Amino acid sequence: MGGHMKPQAEPMRPEGVKAMIAIGSGKGGVGKSTVSSNLAVALARAGKRVGLLDADIHGPSQPRMFGVTKRPASPDGKRIEPLHAHGVTLMSVGAMLPEGKAVIWRGPMLMGALQQMLMQVNWGELDVLLIDLPPGTGDVQLTLGQKAPLTGAIVVSTPQDVALIDAQKALDAFGTLKVPLLGLIENMAVFTCPHCGKDSHIFGHGGVVAEAERLGVPLLAQLPIDLDTRLAGDAGTPVALGEGPMAEAYAGLAERLIR
Ligand code: ADP
Repeated sequence: MGGHMKPQAEPMRPEGVKAMIAIGSGKGGVGKSTVSSNLAVALARAGKRVGLLDADIHGPSQPRMFGVTKRPASPDGKRIEPLHAHGVTLMSVGAMLPEGKAVIWRGPMLMGALQQMLMQVNWGELDVLLIDLPPGTGDVQLTLGQKAPLTGAIVVSTPQDVALIDAQKALDAFGTLKVPLLGLIENMAVFTCPHCGKDSHIFGHGGVVAEAERLGVPLLAQLPIDLDTRLAGDAGTPVALGEGPMAEAYAGLAERLIR
């Protein structure tokens, strides 16, 4: 056959960004955004230049988790200046919308917004850009998986069966898109009673470990149900900023990813 192969459509590769890691989950409410914000902070504390793109179009929560209320500026109407908080370069569709406004994106608009957030934002030089995905396996995953040169994906799940079953679908989707799976994170793994010190496995036990083994990928972290994590997230100061066991757990997670 003669002729030249046409290059694929311009991939979503922001200049100056060395690695892109997508963070997904099967369903909502498992702590994907909490883990993303804390991992970003922990990587920044470890000396990495980190960006976080909140691509959870339907429920963007990173502005709240980072305590940012400012809106991103676009002085020339073309390039967008990201926000900066806690050492992390931040961009979120939530930062571009009035709080509490629901977004109903149609496919092409969604693609446009994603393209814009990746390619028109002045991310600068980054060692890693984390992408907080919407839950499940929708258009965002598909587009990013096909067009963005993702270094890999991490899937967050609770031990609860239903979350795990959904997580397996998300894992299958990354596999189909040939996005390397860097590992699983078990969130809300255990609750240790602050009064009696007894452990309770509120959302079940063992499922995420078994799934990581089955897939032959690392279980990157097992994070407990933790009041400080929830309070810090709501206050806009991720728990990984502080000292103590959760900050250490996130530092350990960051270390595992850097290695
Ligand atoms: P998702 O992004 O998966 O929808 P979020 O990160 O928004 O989930 O978390 C849902 C809720 O659970 C938030 O209120 C958050 O503060 C809380 N949360 C997440 N992880 C933990 C944890 N390990 N311990 C306690 N609360 C948590």
